[in-house]
Amino acid sequence: MLVLLSTLVVFLVSAALWNGFVRRTPPSAAGAAPSVAPERPVPAESAPGGAPPPAPTRVPAPAPTPVVPSADAGGPSYFVLLARSEIRRRIRASAGITYLNEIVAASPDSVLHRWDGRVATPVRVSLAPATVANFQPAFLDAVRSAFQRWQEAGVPVRFNLDADTSSAEVRVQWRIQFEGERSGQTDVQWDQDGHVTGGVITLATFDPKGQPLGPDDLRVLAMHEVGHLLGLDHSPNVGDIMYAQPKVRDLSPRDVSTALLLYDLAPGLLRVGG
Ligand SMILES: [Zn+2]
Repeated sequence: MLVLLSTLVVFLVSAALWNGFVRRTPPSAAGAAPSVAPERPVPAESAPGGAPPPAPTRVPAPAPTPVVPSADAGGPSYFVLLARSEIRRRIRASAGITYLNEIVAASPDSVLHRWDGRVATPVRVSLAPATVANFQPAFLDAVRSAFQRWQEAGVPVRFNLDADTSSAEVRVQWRIQFEGERSGQTDVQWDQDGHVTGGVITLATFDPKGQPLGPDDLRVLAMHEVGHLLGLDHSPNVGDIMYAQPKVRDLSPRDVSTALLLYDLAPGLLRVGG
């Protein structure tokens, strides 16, 4: 009985905490979602079983009753909830320095995705020549330097770009052109804890207007797509490589800070009640 009572108290406290955070979150989902949605051309969600229950999103319902952990129901513990609060606090505190706030606000499931523990065991990437029109061998070096750039920036993920296709976790593939206003796409998979488990980067050899791309264009393009592979979504700032239509040709300090913060935080769910 005492256990149940304290569980209930803990739950109410955390619900109150959550409400506190919700009020400080800039606009409600209704305001935030549509403004960002059209900017997100990259379908990065093939999360297995990732569809969250629609119930406890951001509507400040009084006290979400159904989640009260009973015996061994396995609801998030007090410490888990505290840890999530701390992560949200750190993300809020990074406003202006990173765009992680914007990424979380635009995230349909409030889950941080990133690779975990992949310095000692580099991520296996297959990067092979292609036969599509305008493919140049120099594109391979351009893609290599894009991966390299993120590693040099201090992101704690290593890539082995010499993996063969059968053992690769990430595949880089080529096509002539995309239909929409873009020249690259990254599809990322992750597990239920938010750990990225694999992905496919597709790069075009012609831009949307039909202009052939050169090696340096591919380097810039690949840097943007590797950002997605690392777990980043789009930045609203035109000065960042993760801007939806990249205008700059290198990582910005904000790109680097955002990635470093992401890799300093535990991946997974950020909201309460999951
Ligand atoms: Zn993108």
